[in-house]
Amino acid sequence: MSFANTVLKVALPVPLRRAFDYLCPPLTDPANLGPGMRVAVPFGNRNLVGIIIEIADSTNLSSQKLKHATEVLDTKPLVPEELMRLCHWCATYYHHPIGEVFATALPAQLRQGKIANAKQELYYRLAADFSAESEKQLQRAPRQAEIVALARQHEEGVSAHALKALGLSGAPLKALVDKGWLAARVAEATPHEHPTQVLAEAPLTLNPEQQEAVDSLNQAMGEFACFLLDGVTGSGKTEVYLQAIEKALQQGRAALVLVPEIGLTPQTVARFRHRFNSPVSVLHSGLTDTERLHAWSAAASDTARIVIGTRSSVFTPIPQLGIVIVDEEHDLSFKQQDGMRYSARDIAILRARHQGIPIVLGSATPSLESLHNVTTGRYRKLTLSERAGNASAPKLGLIDIRSRPLQEGMSQPLLEAIKFEIEAGNQVLVFLNRRGFAPILMCHECGWMADCANCDTRLTLHMQPRQLRCHHCDAQQRIPSACPNCTSPELTAMGVGTERSEEAIRRIFPDTSIVRIDRDTMRGKRAMAERLAQINQGKSCILIGTQMLAKGHHFPNVTLVAILEADSGLFSSDFRGIERMAQLITQVAGRSGRAHKPGRVLIQTHQADHPLINSLIHDGYAKLAANLLEERRQAELPPFQHWVIVRAEATDEATPMRLLRQTAGWANQYLQDNPGNDKGGDSSEIASFGPLPALVYRRNSRYRNLLIFQSASRTALLQLLNHLCPLLEASPDARKVRWSIDVDPQECF
Ligand code: ADP
Ligand code: ZN
Ligand code: ZN
Repeated sequence: MSFANTVLKVALPVPLRRAFDYLCPPLTDPANLGPGMRVAVPFGNRNLVGIIIEIADSTNLSSQKLKHATEVLDTKPLVPEELMRLCHWCATYYHHPIGEVFATALPAQLRQGKIANAKQELYYRLAADFSAESEKQLQRAPRQAEIVALARQHEEGVSAHALKALGLSGAPLKALVDKGWLAARVAEATPHEHPTQVLAEAPLTLNPEQQEAVDSLNQAMGEFACFLLDGVTGSGKTEVYLQAIEKALQQGRAALVLVPEIGLTPQTVARFRHRFNSPVSVLHSGLTDTERLHAWSAAASDTARIVIGTRSSVFTPIPQLGIVIVDEEHDLSFKQQDGMRYSARDIAILRARHQGIPIVLGSATPSLESLHNVTTGRYRKLTLSERAGNASAPKLGLIDIRSRPLQEGMSQPLLEAIKFEIEAGNQVLVFLNRRGFAPILMCHECGWMADCANCDTRLTLHMQPRQLRCHHCDAQQRIPSACPNCTSPELTAMGVGTERSEEAIRRIFPDTSIVRIDRDTMRGKRAMAERLAQINQGKSCILIGTQMLAKGHHFPNVTLVAILEADSGLFSSDFRGIERMAQLITQVAGRSGRAHKPGRVLIQTHQADHPLINSLIHDGYAKLAANLLEERRQAELPPFQHWVIVRAEATDEATPMRLLRQTAGWANQYLQDNPGNDKGGDSSEIASFGPLPALVYRRNSRYRNLLIFQSASRTALLQLLNHLCPLLEASPDARKVRWSIDVDPQECF
């Protein structure tokens, strides 16, 4: 390749599905350049940081038009080959601009051109002043004691980063340092020798089903296999993950653990940190840009051997990856709903396939997609059918509330059951998946309701602080003192949200302590950790919360779960409504009776005769899921068919609809010109629905429309998108709207 002809194909963070050609920066030897390095380039009147994806010796541009890149920012590829491959796949499969794929996959500071070097960090070690007497004093300071235990465990000291992830970095740490019991030192967080002793604490003795699961995983080490670990709530899935990871670590390999957004509690992290001597890196949306960069660099430089994180950490480069775990694989938070609409679970599977390593998808309520993949033999199923240890499955019961008097949404039998448990010194979890005080504010005189000015939705009444709030666009308004329509002062709050049930429960149980957990009470970084610590002291109390409280937590003293309302999922306009409702109810129910005390679950419903609710109560999730899958097959819906949604929205009503009509027209033409495809027959048949308005048609002052394509053949759908994307990009209407492609959508309307 001659010097002068070298052309860099660069991915830039712009919404175009292509790479851009540049010449090498002046005085740079192209031999020193390679894919995965960052370059600064002029783009229009801006300077952008891009990623070299290819070094070519030709271009379609004329040489006068070709510009020089300004500067190369890396001496070796920042994006390792493995991650490059993953990003290319995402661009092709999700039909997303390659530059924006990198923007999703890389920490913000790297995108801005920062240097990704090993950083310095503070490490804490036990100081010489720490004595037996100090040890005694710590008995009254459990959090300080925990820090001391960690500092003891890690010879080189415990890092500030690690303590922070465990929620231990505040006052307790300061207290220890002030007393001179802990000594801090600054050290390079460079890769160190991997500990020869992998385990820091003894593993639990597995029950036979757990053992079988771990054995199967161990046998699969070093080859690709996708396992569905279908284990009821409290069956000890985490213990299976821990022991599978142990095996990988012993082989000198690393582990990636993906958890849902709210699953990443300090308790979860603590379980991994306490078990292993190896460094654990934690990635979640609450990190600052700098923290994210550090965690990313630690993983990429082989410093972290276990990476735990939420959705986007599926893109963390990890040398020598040995196993991937996706916990609560059914959880919606693995699917990104804007920008690049990717599924972290699906990308994780692809990554395991590329690397030739096993992946475990764990859940008590597996998605119908995954169950279907078990049926077709793509996944291997491992089952944990019983709770681990001495815990037994909770008993589920319905309370038919038709024509019963309700106190703030609670029936008498429910209140009596709560009273019974509280008097016995137990904890009760009250579940209501609606935050705020009341979902509707209505005029008793004329029927006026408070609507959002920007959305086709009602405003929710909040009392703390007092205001009307839109849960779709976050708009906030004062509560009117009189009806804006008829001036009547009689405005009534209709329906019940968590604030209102908290208020009612405080009134009915004045002497009981009450903890509310929803998005409004969880503001502030430590809020969740503090509440969980309070609950885990085990004292009798009532927990009220939304789905934030429903998933993943281990509350040993909760003996009753009260579900205030189970019906909304039954009438959802999304075909996945019932699947989601069944998952949520089963997960909430699973918070009850997780230790030696037996648990029960009471579900209030107006639909006590509904076959689906009854099936869930009497036969359990697995049976219901099997029936739902059969329904999907007959109705020709996913997972038996694949879907792609093209969405368009704008502040004017006409353009998005016009663009989607045009798109539907292009698709029809294409399908006429390419009948049957090479596969032929039904398999490549593509049906389209729409364009139609989204369920919430106007949101944040934008009118939203969608166009659905469905086919049994994924390839046929992707080929259609290959045809449509360039047409969309070139369309003048597309420039006036926000449009997006959603492959394998999870929320359909
Ligand atoms: P899951 O993730 O399936 O909901 P967890 O892994 O949180 O379940 O386990 C629930 C409880 O059971 C935890 O307290 C855990 O320590 C305990 N446990 C798990 N496996 C065993 C075992 N083999 N023997 C005793 N207790 C166990
Ligand atoms: Zn009125
Ligand atoms: Zn709104």
